[in-house]
Amino acid sequence: MLLLGAALAVAGRISAGSRTVPAAGSAALPAEAPKYVALTFDDGPRSDTTSRLLDGLLTRGASATFFLVGEQIAGNEDLVLRMRDEGHQVGNHSWSHAMLQGKSNAVVDREISRTDELLRSILGDGSYWVRPPYGLLSESQKKRFSVPLVHWSVDPEDWKLRDTGKDVQAVLRQVHPGAIILMHDSVPPSVDAALEVVDTLQAQGYTFVTVEELLRLYDVTPQPGVFYLSGTEHH
Ligand code: ZN
Repeated sequence: MLLLGAALAVAGRISAGSRTVPAAGSAALPAEAPKYVALTFDDGPRSDTTSRLLDGLLTRGASATFFLVGEQIAGNEDLVLRMRDEGHQVGNHSWSHAMLQGKSNAVVDREISRTDELLRSILGDGSYWVRPPYGLLSESQKKRFSVPLVHWSVDPEDWKLRDTGKDVQAVLRQVHPGAIILMHDSVPPSVDAALEVVDTLQAQGYTFVTVEELLRLYDVTPQPGVFYLSGTEHH
């Protein structure tokens, strides 16, 4: 009762006398600000690891964003459809995971449009946002894109650690509301780590949304050729 009274006093809802009455229509305790975070996965699809990840996200009610490598899609079309049908965002991570920074326009256009066309043939028309391999593009190259670009604010370097426990610790050390977390569904320990991260952060009140949803929740209007690092940072 003491705690409840203190919380109500902080919220300015305490009444005269000894009885406390919440303001009409409000909860008895002040609501904590909602915390949203976007998990993103690069370098898939890979049949065994990506399907296991999708199963785990589904049971947890967590949405994520997948940046797919075009040449790995053949034979995994069912996973791409699952991503869309289960509420995830699907994006483009080039055709062959080529470094695009500094490459000719012809190379960049081919790497991006080939994957874009394949995604359209599987999922239909849509805006397939891009994460270039290594997150790298030159300033002049950014201007050529007709869709938003996605960077990240949390990087556990899971592709290098390949250790579920260390991956989880690295994410939890860096995470913040509005974060875009970079992980890789092609790496087996990363799948277990991502699901453990979801369990831990959901228990802390976080909700897992797609990058597109995250920007909308932060009142950001996504612009083509701009890199989004989190709900509040872009360049
Ligand atoms: Zn990659």
